[in-house]
Amino acid sequence: MWGKRGTAGEQGSLAGSLRDEKLKSNIILNAIEDGVVLIDTEGVIRLFNPGATAITGWVADEAEGLDWRLVFKFVDTKGQPITDNDTILSQAKTAARPVRDNAANLQTKSGKTVATSFSVSPLTGADKQVTGMVGIFRDVSIERQDESRRADFISTASHEMRTPVAAIEGYLSLALNEKVAIIDNKARDYLEKAHASTEHLGQLFQDLLTSAKAEDGRLTNHPRVVEIGAFAEQLVSDLKFSAEKKGLFLESNFGTVQPSAEPTKVVRPLYYATVDPDRLREVITNLFDNAVKYTDTGKITIGLTGNEQVVQFFVRDTGNGIPPEDIQHLFQKFYRVDNSATRTIGGTGLGLFICKKIVELYQGRIWVESEFGKGSTFFINFPRLTTQNAEVQLAREAQSGELGSMATGTHL
Ligand code: ADP
Repeated sequence: MWGKRGTAGEQGSLAGSLRDEKLKSNIILNAIEDGVVLIDTEGVIRLFNPGATAITGWVADEAEGLDWRLVFKFVDTKGQPITDNDTILSQAKTAARPVRDNAANLQTKSGKTVATSFSVSPLTGADKQVTGMVGIFRDVSIERQDESRRADFISTASHEMRTPVAAIEGYLSLALNEKVAIIDNKARDYLEKAHASTEHLGQLFQDLLTSAKAEDGRLTNHPRVVEIGAFAEQLVSDLKFSAEKKGLFLESNFGTVQPSAEPTKVVRPLYYATVDPDRLREVITNLFDNAVKYTDTGKITIGLTGNEQVVQFFVRDTGNGIPPEDIQHLFQKFYRVDNSATRTIGGTGLGLFICKKIVELYQGRIWVESEFGKGSTFFINFPRLTTQNAEVQLAREAQSGELGSMATGTHL
């Protein structure tokens, strides 16, 4: 039997090496600053390292054996509790894949809020069932403060710089106006170039300001129930001119042909969603402007479709397309595809970043599908409101509007 199980010496060395392994893991877990927590399949904390204690204020003896929900209280930026199902730990368990949240806020045992970066990896057994979770988290308060100072600086600087830039642009326009100033052709050429660059600078400051506001949640936002179809029809008629100016055809695709008694009748379903129409206009206009900018010939299609759960907008073009390796970076701040088109076409690389931030305000999703050299389609999905729900909310909005105007003595 010894032969099968190994000699006493071998057994001793195995036990020794296992002991060594455990010792090594303990040394690592005790030494690292990051919090490490091991949670079993029942949601009970089985391991809580000193790093986790330093961040949460719970000591291992207290935390181990408790349900994680008693120890990990996640809150939003205003300190309001986040429901357990929406926390990163629940998400990782449900999704059965690693999940990261760099913007998580934890409430410590004494009730203080700590900015953390949290990543959770589910542990899976042979049958792919989740058997537990390992969470690793860091206190990122200093990084968040730095970020917020940087955003404050960008937003103040861009706000202050917009005024002189607007003045320069105004004077350049005056100098270029034949009724106001007489200049020779050479001077006109120089001033036109200066005017175009100043316009670009003004747009850059505006985009910087909007993106800084979007990042720290200060973007003005007044969501209400909107029938997206009517909204889109109006928007398309406003945008038509700018596509035609470049010789591009603008097509809209909002309806479905009903196989009914009148087969030629196009019936447009009512697509209700809760959004701020001004913000949504910014997003669609931005996607449309890009489609015009990056398309030399062909057409642009603005479409609306959906199912019971979602309303889907899309903006399709027959332009340059986007190389596959760039697609994953496209919605990052300042990202521009590096090619001859973007080198000659002006842009800030902030437009799509801002679009994404706005779409996320309404629990929406934005993404792109593109074939390099053939064209791109940008999609936006918003949660759809049922017509019944929308009508109830619209009536409520109208009522509160009436009450508001009665209180202020104004008439609708
Ligand atoms: P920009 O100000 O550069 O247009 P955006 O954030 O709006 O910034 O877009 C980022 C980059 O994505 C662009 O520089 C361009 O390379 C690419 N892009 C955006 N829309 C399109 C499009 N419709 N077709 C091809 N490329 C596009």
